[in-house]
Amino acid sequence: MSVPSSATISPLSNVADAPVTVAVTGAAGQIGYALLFRLAAGALLGPERSIRLHLLEVPQARAALDGVIMELEDAAFPALQGIVATDDPMVAFRDAEQVFLVGARPRGPGMQRGDLLQANADIFRTQGRALDAVASRSVRVVVVGNPANTNALIAQRHAPSLDASCFSAMTRLDHNRALAQLAAKLRCGVADIRRLCVWGNHSSTQYPDVSYATVAGQPLAAQLEPAWLEQQFLPAVTERGAAIIQARGASSAASAASAAIDHMRDWVLGSTDWVSMALPADGAYDIPEGLVYSFPVQCSDGQASIVRELDISAASRERMDRSQDELLQELEAIRSLLP
Ligand code: NDP
Repeated sequence: MSVPSSATISPLSNVADAPVTVAVTGAAGQIGYALLFRLAAGALLGPERSIRLHLLEVPQARAALDGVIMELEDAAFPALQGIVATDDPMVAFRDAEQVFLVGARPRGPGMQRGDLLQANADIFRTQGRALDAVASRSVRVVVVGNPANTNALIAQRHAPSLDASCFSAMTRLDHNRALAQLAAKLRCGVADIRRLCVWGNHSSTQYPDVSYATVAGQPLAAQLEPAWLEQQFLPAVTERGAAIIQARGASSAASAASAAIDHMRDWVLGSTDWVSMALPADGAYDIPEGLVYSFPVQCSDGQASIVRELDISAASRERMDRSQDELLQELEAIRSLLP
């Protein structure tokens, strides 16, 4: 790795409070481009809260990152108190309170799934160790880079001095996609739908579950044909990413960035309804401890708590198990890299 480089811009405003340090990896990528401007505008903690951005990129992407930083400067965000750009995770994560791990190795030509898991395991092991060493002790980490759940597990396991509850992976985009599909079908607002959840892995085995959902206070599933749920809704949610690539010739970036902000904002400030977050399993619903698995979650006082003791139907259990089995296979592929 080259010598870490950094660029700091001077304060742009008189915002008086101490800035919150927010770190973003893969900052020059597509999702990073959509994420940084919303963070700087105050979408996470409100426009009154000053923020300092720590941006991590690989050396090859440094020039692109410099361009993004110029644009951030030009936007003159009042709450943006400074930017540090670096290729060193020990610099990027120093005192970080909220961390978005977006950068990940994409699948290259001829690359097998195991190779991809291995390549990302190296990245997330290094980042886990750096978080362990220098991040705030109450850091909140969301992994967006795929395979997100297993990348989060690796980072968490390499950060033994941080509580496991500091780590999560993003399934909020899947949750939001499910909300949007249901609201369109029921001709209601997304906010009318409550108690929706996504179980499992951020992959095609995810299980968007409407069993407990309500619309305007009434049970939601009773208002929909089981065949529509099975044949239209579930595929529409799980295949939405591919549909967007086909339509726009590029993967979903703005919606992924928006979901990442939703995830972190609700975690830090509290949620008003169930949200979906992949968290280190603690035995709830018999998911093996330590797997990073998406659950229905409620957030308050900076803590994300799994919604417990829901009745799980046999059909739901089968889908939850399928996603769990996929995560166990991913774990096997990288087990030798765990401490
Ligand atoms: P994107 O910004 O589009 O995506 C980044 C990651 O997010 C990918 O792993 C992608 O998975 C994942 N992702 C999760 N949900 C979604 C979603 N709904 N839609 C699209 N992607 C999703 O990738 P880019 O290639 O544009 O940018 C990646 C950046 O990361 C590059 O600038 C690269 O240099 C950097 N990088 C940084 C590292 C570091 O900081 N140490 C390490 C490796 C890369 P998927 O691949 O499955 O689409």
